[in-house]
Amino acid sequence: MNRLQFQPGLSLPAFLEQFGTETQCEAGLESARWPEGFRCPHHGEVDHYVLRKRGRKTFQCQPCRTQTTLIAGSVFQSAHLALTLWFLAIYLISQAKTGLSTLALKRYLGVSYPMAWLIQHKLMQTMTERDAHPMRRGAGR
Ligand SMILES: [Zn+2]
Repeated sequence: MNRLQFQPGLSLPAFLEQFGTETQCEAGLESARWPEGFRCPHHGEVDHYVLRKRGRKTFQCQPCRTQTTLIAGSVFQSAHLALTLWFLAIYLISQAKTGLSTLALKRYLGVSYPMAWLIQHKLMQTMTERDAHPMRRGAGR
């Protein structure tokens, strides 16, 4: 399954223990996108280098030198935010049984109202579409 899932009823401390740092979120996203490890989007090559571009984990195919960021083509590209914030937003939205207001999300994340609205809008779009998911390529476009 090419998706990121949080256990239902996962407590906030347990969530933070698993996804409280950028490195943990990157690892979670990486295994959700490429469960068997990175593959070049062009020919499925597995040999690659890992680089950092503007702080973002980037994979470069060894034979063809194509670069793919961890978030390329995903909903996480729609705003320049730390993955920890995106993951927390997904957690909060998916755990809120009766829905979460944009204002509440703004307060939880400590972002501006327009940013909270964007995050909510993008995530809801990918979470409610059948078979769509924030991890999927092209999601939220
Ligand atoms: Zn390649």
